Amino acid sequence: MNHDPDPGIPSGALQLIEVLQLAEANGHATEFEVAADASGHDCLWCPYCEVESSASSYERAWSLRLEGASDPADMLHVSALTCPNCATRGVFIAPFGPAASQRQASVLRALPKAQCAIPLSPD
Ligand SMILES: [Zn+2]
Repeated sequence: MNHDPDPGIPSGALQLIEVLQLAEANGHATEFEVAADASGHDCLWCPYCEVESSASSYERAWSLRLEGASDPADMLHVSALTCPNCATRGVFIAPFGPAASQRQASVLRALPKAQCAIPLSPD
């Protein structure tokens, strides 16, 4: 998966791209999604093994919050995770705060604490 930066993208979006490139460089190349199945569990879906697992069973290496370039309410949460079923590494991206869906917020709450600091120094 290549995320070549587009020179026409505004700086706010570029920030997310930079984080994703960094995640990919650290082996987190897949993107996990909130499971579509509304069974009441806070599950994430792994596109590699196509298995839904409870968010709390994922390993979280690090996480990061990005603020929107123009709107401070436009925050994004990025977590670097490892699938408990197939050990594929990837990221989970969700809006933070009021912009998050109920299921996204549940997954964010259920994820374990990050194991280490983010591999970059945000300023
Ligand atoms: Zn998996």
